[in-house]
Amino acid sequence: MESKLSCREFVEFLADHLGGGLSVAQLARFNVHLARCPACVDYTRAYRQAVGLSRSALLCPDDQVPGDVPEDLVRAILEAREETR
Ligand SMILES: [Zn+2]
Repeated sequence: MESKLSCREFVEFLADHLGGGLSVAQLARFNVHLARCPACVDYTRAYRQAVGLSRSALLCPDDQVPGDVPEDLVRAILEAREETR
């Protein structure tokens, strides 16, 4: 449980992540899983299109993320946002 994140945990983390509720340690595990699991990358993309992008736009109206932005860029933006908190 400490080292590896399962896909099921990942999905549970995702909602918290997009809500800004993850700790730094959780976010690190989240990103490690995302880097290794294409299925969860796809899931994250679909989830953000359904829920996360509108939330991101609200949080940062000058940096609105279109639906076709590269996943790596979206991830980098979200990581940078977490790190500045
Ligand atoms: Zn996964």
